[in-house]
Amino acid sequence: MNKQLRTPVIAGNWKMNLTPDQAAALIGELKPLVANADCGVVLCAPFVDLAAALEAAAGSNIQIGAQNCHWAADGAFTGEVSAPMLKAVGVAYVIVGHSERRTLFGDSNETVRQRTRAALDAGLTVILCVGEYLEQRQQNITVEVVRTQTKIALAGVTAEELGRVIIAYEPVWAIGTGLTATAEQANEVNRAIRDLLAELYGRDAADRVVIQYGGSMNAANAAELLAQPDVDGGLIGGASLKAADFAAIVRAAG
Ligand code: PEP
Repeated sequence: MNKQLRTPVIAGNWKMNLTPDQAAALIGELKPLVANADCGVVLCAPFVDLAAALEAAAGSNIQIGAQNCHWAADGAFTGEVSAPMLKAVGVAYVIVGHSERRTLFGDSNETVRQRTRAALDAGLTVILCVGEYLEQRQQNITVEVVRTQTKIALAGVTAEELGRVIIAYEPVWAIGTGLTATAEQANEVNRAIRDLLAELYGRDAADRVVIQYGGSMNAANAAELLAQPDVDGGLIGGASLKAADFAAIVRAAG
């Protein structure tokens, strides 16, 4: 019933794929396919593709996001991009704490908190990724891990700012592997995240937060996952690179 308080969001994470021309072509293909979507549609592009993606998506219902941001507004951080810079070029969303950033590039719960803070300060909507490793699931500490990641990332985030936070539950073992959490597993963890939000912000605020599932979601399994009461959309990697597959997931969310 409370699901009616939330509009699902399907977000694509292109990762390190597509040149600007390829990005524009994919958006051109996607636009008519998702024009009547009953959910939010977001594409998170590599930094160098943002301008082309924004231009290609202009006037459509597709919103553009980035895949990371630095925690400082500016300064001596060679190779980095700040949240105010993203805002200035017209980006609306940013992924923070993706497991590939945590695992391969040293992101910690604390730097994820700092990036979240910077993104919210810049006026962006954050897609905050949390999720457990396979060993942690096997040790039955999934909920503990995800609660800790969420709680630290949201430290200092106000109830009002929570309106610009989407949480993506992404079990690390399911990302890019073809393995998907069962619909029940996804819903159980999403429900636990919502219960944590209710402890922190009250049930009413918690019921309004979009909590996605991500991890090998595709055209075939999306409908079952998205039908779960606490799964409000998806963060899609591989399947977001094919217009027909991504559009099918968007339709499944409607
Ligand atoms: C992701 O990158 O967030 C993701 C869920 O990837 P995939 O859909 O390819 O598992």
